Amino acid sequence: MSHLNEVSEVLRVTSSYMVRATALGGRVRAFGLNATEIVEELRRRHDLNPVPAAAVGRTAMGALLLAAASLKEEDQLLTVEVQGDGPIGRIICSADGAGGVRGLASNPYAHAPSRDGKLNVGAVVGPSGYLSVTRDLGMRESYKGTVELQSGEIGDDLAYYLARSEQTPSAVGLGVFVLPDGSVEAAGGFLVQLLPGLEPDEIAAIEREVAALPHPTALIRDGVTPEGILDRIFPGGYEALEQLPVRFHCPCSRERFEAALITLGTEEIESIIREETRESTELVCHFCNEAYHFSPCQMRGILQSAS
Ligand SMILES: [Zn+2]
Repeated sequence: MSHLNEVSEVLRVTSSYMVRATALGGRVRAFGLNATEIVEELRRRHDLNPVPAAAVGRTAMGALLLAAASLKEEDQLLTVEVQGDGPIGRIICSADGAGGVRGLASNPYAHAPSRDGKLNVGAVVGPSGYLSVTRDLGMRESYKGTVELQSGEIGDDLAYYLARSEQTPSAVGLGVFVLPDGSVEAAGGFLVQLLPGLEPDEIAAIEREVAALPHPTALIRDGVTPEGILDRIFPGGYEALEQLPVRFHCPCSRERFEAALITLGTEEIESIIREETRESTELVCHFCNEAYHFSPCQMRGILQSAS
């Protein structure tokens, strides 16, 4: 893995990255992920309680892993939507082909008592509902697949989706560890996809290693890297193809909001100006909670562009 040394140098400033790999002569596709900083940023931006932080964090990491496994271009988008009957409501996370991800939940303050000392994600998501995956490939080309939730724990549900909707048997492990002060100490996971041509004993061996694997957050808290996670799943070795930087990213911008305001039309913009004569107009991106302010003077400029 000496060719990865240079990349490691660049990525050392952050522990969040993904490794893309193959094993068993290309018949297995595998990804290891540390996304601690990303999930902490999601928590901070949306003021997520511990269980919602774990639920949104797992969904965001799932979106990142599926995007890395299936998107070909950097500007393509993969969105995972989880709608259960639990108190968190809907979770939506989108990842692009460049390792950027954003996400949110309807109720950031949902709560459920922990189970076996673990954050009870299944209880805030709810056991009944659906999970859908949408791929926006540009040029108005998009594909959506939907499955019923299996446990609401997200990892199982994504594995079920991949097997059922995409006919790719997969193992998905996702975990988020939240400290007593509410901050995220560790978040990471893996995706292993079984491609055609594997022998039953090879599949059984992978299943055995995945089943024996400690929880992903236990590994990350022990300092295990994404490569280290794959080392444990493939004791016979694997081939690391590349390290991919991952980060929180929302494509919203002041210009986009300005353009959106203009499309409201003159009548609507005039009424906003009338209502907020003295104060600036605040627009908040619901995906990242970033606020954009437009002064009355700027609003008149937008009105002019609209007319
Ligand atoms: Zn945004």
